Amino acid sequence: MNINKHYAELADSYLFSTVARKAAEFQKANPDREVIKLSIGDVTLPLAKCVVEAMHKAVDEMGTAEGFHGYGPEQGYDFLKDAVRDYYAGHGVNLKSGEIFISDGAKSDLANVLGLFDVNNTVLVPDPVYPTYVDDNVSDGRKVIYAKCDESNNFLPMPDPNVKADIIYICSPSNPTGAVYTPEQLKVWVDHANATGAVILFDAAYECFVSEPGLARSIFEVEGARTCAIEICSFSKIAGFTGTRCGYTVVPEELEREGRSLHQMWLRRQTTKFNGVPYIVQRGAAAVFTESGMAEIQHNLDYYRRNAQVIGKALEEAGVWFCGGKNSPYLWMKCPGGMTSWEFFDYLLEKTGVVGTPGSGFGPCGEGYFRLTAFGNAEKTKIAAELLKKAIMEL
Ligand code: PLP
Repeated sequence: MNINKHYAELADSYLFSTVARKAAEFQKANPDREVIKLSIGDVTLPLAKCVVEAMHKAVDEMGTAEGFHGYGPEQGYDFLKDAVRDYYAGHGVNLKSGEIFISDGAKSDLANVLGLFDVNNTVLVPDPVYPTYVDDNVSDGRKVIYAKCDESNNFLPMPDPNVKADIIYICSPSNPTGAVYTPEQLKVWVDHANATGAVILFDAAYECFVSEPGLARSIFEVEGARTCAIEICSFSKIAGFTGTRCGYTVVPEELEREGRSLHQMWLRRQTTKFNGVPYIVQRGAAAVFTESGMAEIQHNLDYYRRNAQVIGKALEEAGVWFCGGKNSPYLWMKCPGGMTSWEFFDYLLEKTGVVGTPGSGFGPCGEGYFRLTAFGNAEKTKIAAELLKKAIMEL
């Protein structure tokens, strides 16, 4: 038998385990000092009340003969697909319900969607980037090339006419940099993809954090995207579903390659290889889009936004370059004094007990940068921001 040899090509992922180990070692050596994690990529606020109530109600229904739900539609229940469609319409994006496929989260679909494409395709990912994109493709045997990001392009790479790629990943707002594209910038990518035949995989997991005007929440705000893009999104960050698991993928009906409809292929894939998200979870997700749900969700998002503001203000006062934090839970700062990412990690931890994530763990272009997140407790974030500012200014 032959195993998938490409697994041997995966780079070992030491980033989060090393961060956790170093933080634990520091705490053990300094039991009296407080460790504050500005490295958390998970949400910390509990599920909104309306979500919990909707799920309780769905559990009760499931215990009755009339309300029992067995296998549901693989693509998701109409009540949730319609709610997502209406959410998009609220942002000026018209989708058909049938173009929305409910999933158990963005991470699964980011990998699953690759099944629509041959392994001989070349994949373009930004550097630095959410590491999953690279691993999903390396383990399939696809060639991965990088779009370099730096301060000169505000960590938002634009198409290079000399670079040919078949699959293009765009993450906006970006993990790890927090950078967000405008619709005008996305239009350049869309025109490029339509001209070259590439397909854009647009990861919108953090769209809910976009609050300033003039920034895109969805690639489908852009004319021409329906013939070149697939959008993958999640309830994880908008509504704290990181442990509850629900997301959705939008595959427009017009999206075709080599005379085949990718929409039909995805429908075929989902109805064959997936048996749907639990009814109870979908009821909880639908509650997010009710009037009271949206109000509760905004309240939670505002909590994280305030944390981001607090960290951003500290960085401004310390005089370091950073991006993100305004329309994203992530802040991406330049390490002071020419330090490498890990040098700054060690310095900050030793001096203050504050933990962040070294940018070099997200790709070579992340070297010399550092990721901070707004998902922590507000009081602790305030303390950490002050300590961070002081530590930078004392350098
Ligand atoms: N996409 C990005 C950019 C992420 O940062 C994450 C999680 O942190 C995901 C996708 C995964 O989302 P989900 O929880 O829906 O699998």
